[in-house]
Amino acid sequence: MSRRLPLFAVCVLLFATLLSGCREPLREAPITLKGPIFGTYYQVILAEPMRRDEVADIEAGILDELEAVDASMSTYREASELSTFNRSPIGEWQPLSPELMQVLELSQQVSRASNGAFDITVGGLVNLWSFGPEARPESVPPNNQLEERLAQIGPDKVELDTQAGRARRLSDVYVDLSAVAKGFGVDQVADYLEAEGIENFLVDIGGELVLRGHRDADAMPWRVGVEVPNEHRQVAQYVLALSNLAVATSGDYRNYFEENGQRYSHTIDPRTGRPVEHALASVTLLSDSAAAADAWATALSVLGPQAALNTARREGLAVLTLERDGEGWVSQVSPAFAERVGDAALDKLGIPRPGQGPVQDSVQDAVPDNKET
Ligand code: ADP
Ligand code: MG
Repeated sequence: MSRRLPLFAVCVLLFATLLSGCREPLREAPITLKGPIFGTYYQVILAEPMRRDEVADIEAGILDELEAVDASMSTYREASELSTFNRSPIGEWQPLSPELMQVLELSQQVSRASNGAFDITVGGLVNLWSFGPEARPESVPPNNQLEERLAQIGPDKVELDTQAGRARRLSDVYVDLSAVAKGFGVDQVADYLEAEGIENFLVDIGGELVLRGHRDADAMPWRVGVEVPNEHRQVAQYVLALSNLAVATSGDYRNYFEENGQRYSHTIDPRTGRPVEHALASVTLLSDSAAAADAWATALSVLGPQAALNTARREGLAVLTLERDGEGWVSQVSPAFAERVGDAALDKLGIPRPGQGPVQDSVQDAVPDNKET
């Protein structure tokens, strides 16, 4: 008897738990959670039905992840870890969080592999061109100021001591992680969702994505629209069916300002200190890491059409580029992109295989669509 009582108690408890679980209403899939973050938006789509209390917990967990990245890597917050680092005395080692160290290391790798096209020390120039937190009128900065800030920058101006988890500034550089932190945030949220046992989801921060599993009960893959370079309308030119990877897009057609008819992109060429001017309108990169995809998309945007594809080939990057050509544009992919997407999918989309030469297209042919469907 004394041995059966606890078992009975356990059964009652279990029954009560199950009952309360059943009473908690289910939310139908897809469940979309969204809000503002990092000066842009975040969007998480969960492709499985879930209890409302579970959804609330997951949403709180997502917000915790985003807040942690923002508190560490934002240059818009004076008290962030990065802003504190940017004010630290030159030459003095600063202990940094493992997450910030990880992003600084990745940034250095991409800088080296892109011959300095990616450079997180461009922050001073980003501010000068009025794309950063130093609010100022949108206009072309004077040459002497440009030269002065250009002389200070370079990926080697931030030294990392990975063993000890610390870094130091070797000149008065202003580190700007805007080109990689969104991707890192996407990775962090995706890791969190996976740790929670969720298998089918999409995470999107300002167009940097991670896709896992499938998008509905029929196990259909996620669909990602690649936009045509048009600042006025959101139009998907290519819709790619993808899963279990990260996607980043870099484009000069959304974030820019104009003065005297000249367009100034928010992507700065660290070799000149000036916004990039070439005809490469957009770069879409597929990778296993959103942080790496984000950084590389920006690096390739700096390099320009031909160098971007050459670098993609050399580094084994999966890349789709759209290059402006009069009123239309031409599309090209790297071999790794063709491998990931498959020749059949490329043929169906009308994207030439690597080596077949670029395809020419015009805005009129584009089909209106959402960025992700
Ligand atoms: P995109 O999606 O167009 O690549 P990102 O937001 O990823 O845009 O990166 C652009 C931001 O990165 C700029 O606003 C600026 O803060 C910073 N940036 C500009 N040029 C560079 C560069 N050459 N290397 C690293 N970061 C850069
Ligand atoms: Mg980027």
